[in-house]
Amino acid sequence: MLDSYKQQGQRIQMCRALRAKGISDEAVLAAMEKVPRHWFLDPTLVEIAYDDQAIPILCDQTISQPSTVASQSQLLNVLPGMKVLEIGTGSGYQTAILCELGAKVFSIERQKGLFDKTKQLLRELHYTAKCFLGDGYKGLTEIEHEPFDRIIITCGAPYIPQPLMDQLKPDGIMVIPVGDEQQEMLRITKRPDDEPLIEHFGNCRFVPMLGNVQFKYQ
Ligand code: SAH
Repeated sequence: MLDSYKQQGQRIQMCRALRAKGISDEAVLAAMEKVPRHWFLDPTLVEIAYDDQAIPILCDQTISQPSTVASQSQLLNVLPGMKVLEIGTGSGYQTAILCELGAKVFSIERQKGLFDKTKQLLRELHYTAKCFLGDGYKGLTEIEHEPFDRIIITCGAPYIPQPLMDQLKPDGIMVIPVGDEQQEMLRITKRPDDEPLIEHFGNCRFVPMLGNVQFKYQ
C-alpha cells in the first residue's frame, strides 16, 4: 500500500501538533508517526487522514481522532509484551498503534462488516492482533485469554462493565469513556486489596457502546 513522502510529512506534522496538545509519551508518538492512518480509511477520504478529526468508516461508525488515540494510548501506559484487550476494533487504527507499542492485542468488534474488513486489513499489514466478533460488554471469556494487563474501550460506555473489570489483572489499567451523549475519559487502576482507583481526564464524545439488545434488531 502506498505511503507517499507527503503523507509521511503529514504524520510528522500531526505528531508535532500532538506534542503541542500535551502528548509526551515517546513510544506513542513514534507509533503514530509510523502507522499510516490513511490505510485505515476509505480511499476517497485519504486527503483528510491527518487532520485531527474523527472520520466515518463502515457501518455508521467513526475512526477516532488522532488526539484521542494518542491520549487514550498514553493513559493506557502499555509496555512491550503486555496483553491488551480492545473493545471496538472499528477501522483497526488504534489496534495497529497498540501492536506497534509491543502489545499482544485482542480486539472485539460487534459489527460484522467492520470485523471482516479490519481483520483482513490487519492481516495484510502483518499485525498479529487477534480479532473477535462479539459483544465487548462481556469481554473475552475463553479462559486462555484472560486476565489482561490493559483494557481500552473505544466506544462510549454508559457504565463500567463488570465482566471487563473481572478480566483485568490486579494493578491492571482500563481506559474507558463513560457516559451517554457525552462521556468522561476515565482511567481505572485495579488494586488487589482496595477499591479501584478512578482518575478523570475530561469530556469526550465517542460512538455508543451497544449491547446485545441491538443485535436482535439488525
Ligand atoms: N478504535 C476504533 C474506534 C471505532 S468506533 C477506530 O479508531 O477505528 C467504536 C467501535 O466500537 C465501532 O466500530 C463499534 O461498532 C464498536 N462497538 C460498539 N459497541 C460495541 C460492543 N458492545 N462490543 C464491541 N464493539 C462495539
